[in-house]
Parts: sequence; structure tokens; C-alpha cells
Amino acid sequence: MMVSIFYKNQNEQADLLAKKGAKVTQTYIRETPYRSIKLHLKQVFRSAYRHKLETRLSHKPWTQEISTVTDWPRRRAVAEFRLCVGHDCLRTHLHRIGIHPDPYCTLCSLHEPMDRNHLGHCTALSNKTECERYWEARTKLMEN
Ligand SMILES: [Zn+2]
Repeated sequence: MMVSIFYKNQNEQADLLAKKGAKVTQTYIRETPYRSIKLHLKQVFRSAYRHKLETRLSHKPWTQEISTVTDWPRRRAVAEFRLCVGHDCLRTHLHRIGIHPDPYCTLCSLHEPMDRNHLGHCTALSNKTECERYWEARTKLMEN
């Protein structure tokens, strides 16, 4: 008699747990392909890098100047970008990074630091536009 009461309670408890379990929302666990994980991580890192880059560039004065550079012909865009950011490989830049002993233009006799401003009136350059004067100066510096 005692045994049947025990089983009866056990059956009722099993029914109760089964009903309770049927109401729980089940999630289907599917394996995520390696390619999807890789793509997701790439997007996360790219987004984080873009945000970090935008934060670092926000205080640079030339960010507005080069905002339309991507629409230009490559030769002009490269010259404009380099002149805007100051990494133009002219004497002043080369002196700043320790490659050349002095910042002065060696193409003319004006004895001025060779930078973007100097390109406008350097007497050794014959081209009209800033872009063409930049490339002419680079070519002549390579020949010297
Ligand atoms: Zn010069």
C-alpha cells in the first residue's frame, strides 16, 4: 500500500514536470559556419577601426579639404592628399622625418623651406597647376 502511494506521487510529479517543460520555449541550437563567424568578426573590427580613425582624424585641419579627393583623377588626388597631410616627400617633410639634413629647396636659389607654399613660387618649376608643379618637383628631386 505504501509503495503504490509513492509511485502515484512520483507519476503526478512526472506529469507536472512534463506539463511545465512543454510550456518552456525551446531554442534550436544550430552550428554557426566558420565563414559567418569570420565575416561577423571582420565587420566588428572594421566598424571599431572606422570609429577610432574618425575620432583621431576629427581634429585634423585637412579632413574637409580632402573630402572630395576620391572623385578626382588619381594623379591629382595623390598630389592633393600628400600636400594636405604634409607627407609629400618634399625637402621639409624629408627633413622632418630625418632623411634629409635641411628643409631647403635645392632646385632654385631662393633658399626657402621646400613645402606646399614654396611650390607656388619656386623658380625652377615651369608647370602652371599645383599638382603638376608638385610632380615636376618630385621628378627633379629624384634626378638630383
Ligand atoms: Zn625652389
